[in-house]
Amino acid sequence: MVTLMDGKAVSAAVKESVRLEVEQLKKQGVEACLAVIIVGSDPASRVYVNNKKKACELTGIRSEEYALPEETTEQELLTLIDRLNADKKVNGILCQLPLPKHIDENTVIERIDPKKDVDMFSCVNVGKMWVGDGVFLPCTPAGVMELLSYYHIDLCGKNCVVVGRSNIVGKPMACLLLEKNATVTVCHSRTKNLAEICRSADVIVAAVGKAKFITADMVKDGAVVVDVGINRNENGKLCGDVDFENVKEKASYITPVPGGCGPMTIAMLMKNTVSAVKLQNNQ
Ligand code: NAP
Repeated sequence: MVTLMDGKAVSAAVKESVRLEVEQLKKQGVEACLAVIIVGSDPASRVYVNNKKKACELTGIRSEEYALPEETTEQELLTLIDRLNADKKVNGILCQLPLPKHIDENTVIERIDPKKDVDMFSCVNVGKMWVGDGVFLPCTPAGVMELLSYYHIDLCGKNCVVVGRSNIVGKPMACLLLEKNATVTVCHSRTKNLAEICRSADVIVAAVGKAKFITADMVKDGAVVVDVGINRNENGKLCGDVDFENVKEKASYITPVPGGCGPMTIAMLMKNTVSAVKLQNNQ
C-alpha cells in the first residue's frame, strides 16, 4: 500500500516551528524581514510571490515587496539590491526568477549579499553547501529532504537517482542526498539507459519539467518516488513529472502534485530567512 507524502501537512509543521522562532526573536527585539523583488508581470511569478508573502504573514516574518516594471534596467535593479544589502532591517533578499531577457540573472544573483541570499543561489553559498559549511538550505531540495525525513526514509547506502541537473534542483539535491550517505546517480538529457538506471533506484527524485516523464516501467517495486516537477497536462491541470496514477501502484511512498514538494519549498525559504536573521545577529 503506497503512502502519499503530504507536503501540505509537513510544510505546515515547518512553518509553525518557524513562527515560534520568529516570535522568540521578536521577544529579543529582533524583527525578521524578507524583501521580495519581482520584475515584470509573469503570471506564474506573481503567484509564487503571493504565496511567499502569505507564508511570511503566517510565520510573522515582515515582508517588503518591490514590484518593478518589465522595462526596469539591470542597473536600476542592482541599485535596489545594493540598497537592500545595506538596510539592516532587511534580513533576506529574494529576486523572483525568471527575469526579463535584458537582465543578466547571474549578475543579479551575485549582487545579493551572501548573508541575505535566502534562495541560496550565489556561488559563495553553493560552494559552502558542497563543503558542508552552509548556513542556508537550497529550498526545493531541502524541502525534499524534510519530507523524506518526516516519513523516516533512511537514505544511508540507498541508491538514489536524481533526474535533472539544474543548479536550483538537480545538483543541490544530489549534494544533500550524498550528505545523508546515499549513493547518488544524476541523470540528464544525455544519459544513456535512463529507464534502466531508474529501475535500480531505491529513491527517485524527478526534476525534469515534463509531464508523465517517469513511467511505471521505470520504477522498481517499493521505490520511493519524489516528484519535483510542475507542469500542466493536456487539460491545463497542474501535474508533476511522474505518471502518478500508474507509478503509485508500484511505489512505497510518493509525492502528489500539487501538495507535495511545492509547499515544502516555501516553508524552507521561511526557515532560511530565520537563519539569515540569526546569522546577522551573531546567534
Ligand atoms: P531545468 O533547469 O529545465 O532542468 C531540467 C533538467 O531535466 C535538465 O537537467 C535536463 O537535462 C533534464 N532533462 C530534460 N529532458 C530530459 C530527458 N529527456 N531525459 C533526462 N533528463 C532530461 O528545470 P528545473 O528548474 O530543475 O525544474 C525542473 C522541474 O521542477 C520543473 O517542472 C520546475 O517547474 C519544477 N520546479 C519545482 C519546484 C518546486 O518548488 N516544487 C522548484 C523548482 C522547480 P540537461 O541538463 O541535459 O538539459
